[in-house]
Amino acid sequence: MDAPPIVVLRPGEAERVIAGHPWIYEGSILRLTRPAEDGAAVHVQDHRRRPLGTGLFNSRSKIRVRLLSREPVEIDRAFFLARIRAALRVRQHHMPGATSFRVVNSESDSLSGLIVDKYEDVLALQISSLGMDRRRVDIVAALEEAFSPRAIFERSDAPTRRFEGLSESSGVLAGSLDGPLRARLNGLVFQTALPGGQKTGLYLDQQVNYDLVARWAAGGEVLDCFSFSGGFSLHAARAGATRAHGIDQSEEALAQARENAELNGLGDRCSFEAANVFDWLSEHSRGKASARYDLIILDPPPFTRNRAAVPGALRGYKEIHLRALKLLKPQGTLVTFCCSHHVDAVTFQQVVVAAAGDAGCTLRRTAIYGQGPDHPVLPAIPETEYLKGFAFELAGI
Ligand code: SAH
Repeated sequence: MDAPPIVVLRPGEAERVIAGHPWIYEGSILRLTRPAEDGAAVHVQDHRRRPLGTGLFNSRSKIRVRLLSREPVEIDRAFFLARIRAALRVRQHHMPGATSFRVVNSESDSLSGLIVDKYEDVLALQISSLGMDRRRVDIVAALEEAFSPRAIFERSDAPTRRFEGLSESSGVLAGSLDGPLRARLNGLVFQTALPGGQKTGLYLDQQVNYDLVARWAAGGEVLDCFSFSGGFSLHAARAGATRAHGIDQSEEALAQARENAELNGLGDRCSFEAANVFDWLSEHSRGKASARYDLIILDPPPFTRNRAAVPGALRGYKEIHLRALKLLKPQGTLVTFCCSHHVDAVTFQQVVVAAAGDAGCTLRRTAIYGQGPDHPVLPAIPETEYLKGFAFELAGI
């Protein structure tokens, strides 16, 4: 086989790559030694022609090359098998006993453009780059060898696929699927709709946090805002909450949450209500007698997908915190998450502190949370970090 084309970088453009960032933008490239086909493997060198690694090329994307290795490697089935097994070892090391988790998290596992989630014996694939898209057959074969799954299905519907010249792609790639998917998280069973439904999946990035947060729940009244299919509510109920009440605007998610509560024998202590959290909090936080929860969890959607929307998002975050604080009993705990990549932990905490100021209360921070270890953060790639969370106790002074 011919040696791959070489992408030569401009002076000064190699440092970021050497530091570990796998994206090479169009503007960083000085020249190619010969034309590369979209999706093809290329070697990358700095302007002095020192080798930087191997990546996949796409002329249709602003990210021209996604580097997959610092070595000159073949990107074939054996490569994917080795990478997937390495990723699996990370999960087994940090989440021993877990049976459902994210196996591959794109850049976090040096597989830019590929996400693989494991729901017990079923794998779900999400592909967001052209280079990975062209290698679907090798990826599926490697996954079959590593896991012998009952089925592999694809749900590549991220809007960013169009930046790569790709359209949506979903369906069953291997094996067969019938009935809902079931996943075990920390010993609780969660059911999720089959691919093709409105929402498929679970928020696996919160798996570790479910148990960490549930420790504040014993013997108390819990309010789970943005509950989706009941992750925090069910863990709180199991940990001994007298009641966990979940709010979400999606009827479909709530139907699933109720079913999940029943499946785990927690139906008598969990309740779910369809509402807009902003309206619900505003309605229930009026008046002096509103403070009735021992634990309130806020786990909203990102509110902002780009930098321009950040100020509006911060106003939204402040508002729900202000209202939630009014619903908290003295000594109660507020657990709050922000999954927007564009709002960092410092800014997020400032918003909570400002809300506490407006509410006239003092907060004591009792925990700091992040995304689970199956969504590894690589500090050299800031894009890999998005989820941050805190627990605050009402200080009562
Ligand atoms: N805590 C959940 C994940 C929450 S994801 C878990 O661990 O599984 C965000 C959820 O917020 C989604 O289910 C979405 O339906 C819901 N949502 C978004 N905006 C909302 C709003 N304004 N009011 C109520 N629910 C909302």
